[in-house]
Amino acid sequence: MGNLPFHHDSHETTSAPITKSLDPEELRKYGHMVVDFIADYYQNIEKYPVLSRVQPGYLRKCLPDSAPYDPEPISTILKDVQDHIVPGLTHWQSPNFFAYFSSTASTAGFLGEMLTTGLNVVGFNWVSSPAATELENIVMDWLADMLQLPKSFHFSGNGGGVLHGSTCEAIVCTMAAARDQMLRRIGSENLGNLVVYGSDQTHSTLQKASQILGINMENFRAIKTTKSTEFALSPEMLRLTISSDLEEGLVPLFVCATIGTTATTAIDPLEALCHVAKEYGVWVHVDGAYAGSACICPEFRHFIDGVEGANSFTFNPHKWLFTGMDCCCLWVKNPSALVLSLSTNPEFLRNTASNSKQVVDYKDWQIALSRRFRALRVWLVLRSYGVANLRNFIRSHVKMAKTFEGLVRMDKRFEIVVPRDFSLVCFRISPSALISRDEDGEIGMINEVNCKLLDAINASGKAYMTHAVVGGIFLLRCAIGATLTEEKHIVQAWKVVQDHAQAILNMH
Ligand SMILES: *Cc1c(COP(=O)(O)O)cnc(C)c1O
Repeated sequence: MGNLPFHHDSHETTSAPITKSLDPEELRKYGHMVVDFIADYYQNIEKYPVLSRVQPGYLRKCLPDSAPYDPEPISTILKDVQDHIVPGLTHWQSPNFFAYFSSTASTAGFLGEMLTTGLNVVGFNWVSSPAATELENIVMDWLADMLQLPKSFHFSGNGGGVLHGSTCEAIVCTMAAARDQMLRRIGSENLGNLVVYGSDQTHSTLQKASQILGINMENFRAIKTTKSTEFALSPEMLRLTISSDLEEGLVPLFVCATIGTTATTAIDPLEALCHVAKEYGVWVHVDGAYAGSACICPEFRHFIDGVEGANSFTFNPHKWLFTGMDCCCLWVKNPSALVLSLSTNPEFLRNTASNSKQVVDYKDWQIALSRRFRALRVWLVLRSYGVANLRNFIRSHVKMAKTFEGLVRMDKRFEIVVPRDFSLVCFRISPSALISRDEDGEIGMINEVNCKLLDAINASGKAYMTHAVVGGIFLLRCAIGATLTEEKHIVQAWKVVQDHAQAILNMH
């Protein structure tokens, strides 16, 4: 399997090394070879086990100890990619990939990426590549319209958006803005009293950002959620927690509400949470990393109702909007809070445009100085597919998730653990399937059996799913969203689940 034939067009033209560091004709020739290689990869992708089977350290055994002194031809290098790298890949673009949340590749995203990499401009400020900044302003406003974000998040409404590489990065930046805004008011000696709020389902990025930004970890609140409220953050619990912190003399700073949590796509009640936060002057960040993309469909938009009460909002087009890695959209209502925290003004970057204050200098909206022209990729995706097809792609994933959910529900040995809202189905072998066989009904066994089932599915190479533990329940996540997944893959995946479940149940 690791040795699919790699097609050489003509051995003569491809067996020579690249001779120049950047030559248009060589780029054309070898660029085509690499595109062919990638297209072949997609053509054959279903032949590979979805989850890589290599052992830790496998690659050192395959590759030389040091870099080659003499140049090697690209054909030789691509052969090594095929023979040594591909076996060490977990195939995220496989139609049988149902793990984590998908990272949707697309032809348009790929073409946009080629342009970004090909042009290789570094748009840290406006003058360093005006088109990079202005296109980013435009696509961020387009996306804000697609999501029906309030005017206050658009550039024309004195807000604005920026493309980051990841949610982690975006939350670090927004929390820095919130922190500094608060400390300017109450004095920097109060850093140790600032409190950050999320739920026990909030992504770990919130904790990471808090650590990076010097929040006292004793003041990090992961408010408990329960199955009875579908693992959503309770506004009442938020209020109680804030009140008790205030009584202790602490300073509530930042709350992260999630639309579509990573474990089970739980939806925090945005409107009510913003209402509580507003009373106490707490910054609200909305994390819609995965589910945000679905909100471009009118029928899903209600999940972010209340977003007008938030200070900042993020979602990752690299998860479910077909841009490929890496792309996180961040909008803020008050860009000057970000800029106050993140701007620097060294002499070598001074220029008339920046001085005029007529332009956005994105270096002041992010951590790094240098930045890629990511907007090109988003622009290619939006224009190539149009809002119409992007909505259709998302709807097709949701429809397939409904199919999978239906299959689970028809089999009495299984249960759906939490209601499905998007394209993630959370399921497990039901306790009743086990207890009926074993009069002692060992509850602890249920999680173990489901864990075994997951391992068996993934070892088969025919599908890859991951798990979550919520409220003490070990569940399997079937996250549908790979670009190549079709209805037939869902039916096959369910068959794989059933076959392995039967084998495991037979042993109990
Ligand atoms: C995936 C995910 C993240 C992390 O996103 P990165 O861009 O990888 O930092 C954050 N929050 C939620 C809800 C996620 O699902």
